[in-house]
Amino acid sequence: MRDYKRFLKEKAYINGKWVSAQNGKTFEVRNPFNNDKIIEVPDLGKEETIQAIVSAKVALEKWKNETAEYRARLLKKLFNLQLDFADELAYILTLEQGKPLSEAQGEIKYGASFIEWFAEEGRRTYGETIPSNASDKRVLTIKQPVGVVAAITPWNFPNAMITRKIAPALAAGCTVVVKPAESTPLSALAIAVLAEMAGIPKGVINIITTNKPIEVGEELTSNSIVKKISFTGSTHVGKILMKQCAETVKKVSMELGGNAPFIVFNDADIDSAVEGVIASKFRNSGQTCVCTNRIFVHDSIYDEFSYKLSKEVGKLKIGNGIEQGIAIGPLINEKAVSFLNNLVEDASGKGAEVIIGGNLNKLGGNFFPPTILGNVSEEMDVYNKEIFGSIAPLIRFTKEEEVIAMANNTPYGLASYFFSKDYARVWRVSEGLDYGMVGVNTGKISTTVAPFGGVKESGIGREGSKYGIEEYLEIKYICIGGL
Ligand code: ADP
Repeated sequence: MRDYKRFLKEKAYINGKWVSAQNGKTFEVRNPFNNDKIIEVPDLGKEETIQAIVSAKVALEKWKNETAEYRARLLKKLFNLQLDFADELAYILTLEQGKPLSEAQGEIKYGASFIEWFAEEGRRTYGETIPSNASDKRVLTIKQPVGVVAAITPWNFPNAMITRKIAPALAAGCTVVVKPAESTPLSALAIAVLAEMAGIPKGVINIITTNKPIEVGEELTSNSIVKKISFTGSTHVGKILMKQCAETVKKVSMELGGNAPFIVFNDADIDSAVEGVIASKFRNSGQTCVCTNRIFVHDSIYDEFSYKLSKEVGKLKIGNGIEQGIAIGPLINEKAVSFLNNLVEDASGKGAEVIIGGNLNKLGGNFFPPTILGNVSEEMDVYNKEIFGSIAPLIRFTKEEEVIAMANNTPYGLASYFFSKDYARVWRVSEGLDYGMVGVNTGKISTTVAPFGGVKESGIGREGSKYGIEEYLEIKYICIGGL
């Protein structure tokens, strides 16, 4: 390991300077593996948030008027630096978040891919000329940056959820104020170190570390300089932020919770479906918004599927993410462990069978073992709530229409998955699922090139892909008369 400490910062980043809180307050960042303190970072509040917003506004005037090519060049530098220092960044990510190092390295590459993609997309934000309604007029559109953007991000992908927002924002000509989650501010600060190295001008990226998300969130959503909020997190907080944004009519992008169904039809390749569940359920110990939440298995293959799945899940090695060969790291905190415990207790009390796992892990602390629950039904909490952890609930079904209705019967609509070899069914079910994303015969759908986002209460807007940059652009219509 080279010197990761170069990227481990104990100051926030505003207007190109590393700063403390005005009142000197700090808060601790802890390692979820053993709850040891890693470092303390500034606990900023409203005043410092206003400073960051004003800095972003000042920087905007120059940044938005630079050429797209200039911005792309700086973003490509940032991309290269993120890859050059992937090991150091991954190490810090695992320290503060707990995920296995191999997954952290994957996240750093995934996070970098958004920077490269949007560096390229920023040069292609074309306007249009429109056939005019009058012979003495010309009708055209241009695209312009929305302005100062606030990004509020979660702890489950401390790097990629930030790059996915700041890369399109910067490429479009916007400047940003980022408020990372209080449990994982270190990866955000490490991005600021990279931005400094890349020569991104002061004020273009600002990072507010805080243990007072409500206070900072209120300023970000009410300050009229901020023109857009991009949020990834729970549906509950997303709704609060949308309400707060209403007063100043900000644009919003919301990437919220999910309750992903995973359907295994009787014509599925069972081994691939097992692999798909492992990929979509246990990544990041189940702590992603696209993680499988409910596994519907056709009655005729239920026993075989459940047997094979338990065999594979039994092989997943649980432990300190920093060590080699670990598949399941700790959960983010003790609250998450007790939430999962309660889900298992509630389900068992209502007749579910614990096929594997379920009990507290002998490693103690924030560990929860990979768990499979059989015969799960609709009245159980585990069926209705976003699990955000390593519990895989199995539900029996018999008919296609019935399982589509069950899958859709939730306020959420982010990711969904199914396995089938029947091509007609592949179309029918893909079209029938009320979700923003459908994985067919795969449990891995996240990629920079595809539009990521949800319908219903899972969100508004899309991230990644050619659509991602549109969230940071306004269309301006220009009518030239008197010709
Ligand atoms: P999770 O349950 O995954 O922690 P949250 O939605 O609570 O999801 O958190 C996601 C992000 O939203 C974090 O950065 C957190 O600090 C922030 N957050 C939580 N509550 C608020 C709020 N009232 N205003 C602004 N940000 C908030």
